Amino acid sequence: MLVAGNWKMHKGPAEARAFCDAFTPPAGVDVVVCPPYVSLAAALASGLTVYAQSVHWAREGAYTGEVSAPMLLELGVTGSIVGHSERRQYFGETDDSVARRTAAALEAGLGVIACVGESEEERESGRTEFVLVLQVESVRDAVGAHERLVVAYEPVWAIGTGRTATAEQAQEAHAFIKSLLDRPVLYGGSVKPENAAELLAQPDVDGALVGGASLEPSSFTAICEAAAAAAA
Ligand code: PEP
Repeated sequence: MLVAGNWKMHKGPAEARAFCDAFTPPAGVDVVVCPPYVSLAAALASGLTVYAQSVHWAREGAYTGEVSAPMLLELGVTGSIVGHSERRQYFGETDDSVARRTAAALEAGLGVIACVGESEEERESGRTEFVLVLQVESVRDAVGAHERLVVAYEPVWAIGTGRTATAEQAQEAHAFIKSLLDRPVLYGGSVKPENAAELLAQPDVDGALVGGASLEPSSFTAICEAAAAAAA
């Protein structure tokens, strides 16, 4: 079981240090925090496992605003989220750029949490599986079932909305994703201490990618404990 906390654009270095001082990962679960770039060093100093929120495909070059895999590794960062729906929605990330970022990160030695998931309109028009095939196969065709690759199923309509996929919807999507690419699949989308246990009890839910509820040590700890219990 893996639980990753995506802090998004929250917590500068001082707040990151305060979070890490108040948070101890429970035994029996792999825990990762994903701070903004400027707070990676502060989180690393606490000894937690730290992932970035995105990573570029080039080693270096004229890519203003981007950060490369070797730069992250030099800092002590061991992985990155790639293709989060907010990157796809607001920053022009495509299946092609997600595949390129994923391939470069894995090649350099980072772990990757590759995010996939359908929008509300896609689900309502019956295109969930079609979208998942496009997103998952573009990553699969680039890197295969790489041992440091994890997929996160994050239905866009459930991210930051308080609407969670039902445990059955999550299980169905996870099984479908695994039929395309045989790697662990995390669930993401309004995971909270109240719903974590039921989601994590599903046979094909291998952990959680948590946004809002990862910002407070108490709620993040409760979700990590639910994952440890589900894994036991
Ligand atoms: C996320 O950012 O990956 C996420 C799932 O956010 P939230 O838990 O806030 O829905």
